[in-house]
Amino acid sequence: MTTPVNLLDFDLDGLTSFCEGLGEKRFRATQLFRWIHQRGVADFGQMTDLAKAFRDKLAGVAEVRALPIISQHDSRDGTIKWLFDVGGGNAVEAVFIPEDDRGTLCVSSQAGCAVGCRFCSTGHQGFSRNLTTAEITAQLWFAEHYLRQHLKTTERVISNVVMMGMGEPLQNYDRLIPSLRTMLDDHGYGLSRRRVTVSTSGVVPMMERLARDCSVALAVSLHAPTDELRDHLVPLNKKYPIDELLRTCTAYLASAPRDFITFEYCMLDGVNDAPEHAQALIELMRTHGQRGLRGKFNLIPFNPFPASGLKRSPMPRVLAFGKLLNDAGIVTTVRKTRGDDIDAACGQLAGDVQDRTRVQDRVARQRTVVLQQMPKPKVAAPRERL
Ligand code: SF4
Repeated sequence: MTTPVNLLDFDLDGLTSFCEGLGEKRFRATQLFRWIHQRGVADFGQMTDLAKAFRDKLAGVAEVRALPIISQHDSRDGTIKWLFDVGGGNAVEAVFIPEDDRGTLCVSSQAGCAVGCRFCSTGHQGFSRNLTTAEITAQLWFAEHYLRQHLKTTERVISNVVMMGMGEPLQNYDRLIPSLRTMLDDHGYGLSRRRVTVSTSGVVPMMERLARDCSVALAVSLHAPTDELRDHLVPLNKKYPIDELLRTCTAYLASAPRDFITFEYCMLDGVNDAPEHAQALIELMRTHGQRGLRGKFNLIPFNPFPASGLKRSPMPRVLAFGKLLNDAGIVTTVRKTRGDDIDAACGQLAGDVQDRTRVQDRVARQRTVVLQQMPKPKVAAPRERL
């Protein structure tokens, strides 16, 4: 018996082709898409305005297959973290972060990650596989409709999606795009392009494609002002160095829904948090600003995990770093940590991954070397008490 097609795998165009293949008209696909994504209905029998013959046809070949949930953790601050089983011993996480004016879902795109950023718990776990479109979309489908039930509302709860969970989304490009389109589609979740953010460590060719195919808000994990330091922290920098990355960011702005790029900067004690690093960043942004780049910085207090060998910058230093950037005219904020009591903060999404590409081994081998070689600022930063 063949496995039924999971309809979460389709954007509206894909679902239309599928339905046309069953001999159905286009508008039937739109009705079906709305039942699934707007109303959260998985049972074809409940889709009462679809012809019985169409529902019977669907029941034989298709289904709406959710991801099995391994666990749910509710934080005191309202943050909720789900661990989903994606088979083969792999699990991925999604996190809902409620705020006064928005509800944000942080979504995973891969089981593990092959980029291997030094400060990232996911990167240390290694890589297993890309998630399918259905597995990416299923995180939003489940979270949105669970939250509506839980909060007893028919209104939309999730207003923002950030592709900042496990994985480098632009290394899973072909599966990511239909999922983004479903998020944006008025018959799906109807999210604004400004409120869907793809976060990347800097996969330059895919950033160029994203600008053409589905331009949403962009966040770039910068974390260092020089190639020398960024090579150590974000190994992908060796392939796509800072100058090339920032030129691509500038070009992205031509089609971006926002007039700036968000730059993420994880604050690592004694590694990238000295005033000299801030000064170098200011120079970097000045140079690229003259070419048209506009960016905002988001300073992220590092969430330590034992294998990293790294420590969180003391908060006074984070604030001093932010002040230097702000005083230079670069809008800079410090990310609030949320869900600390359930390990849901940025960089803590661990899931459970079968490392099939031996990234773990590579990261472990390189860690000692990296920490010995990490470029130091020319003048030591003042040390605050932890
Ligand atoms: S920060 Fe992102 S790109 Fe880097 S290892 Fe972690 S998940 Fe991968």
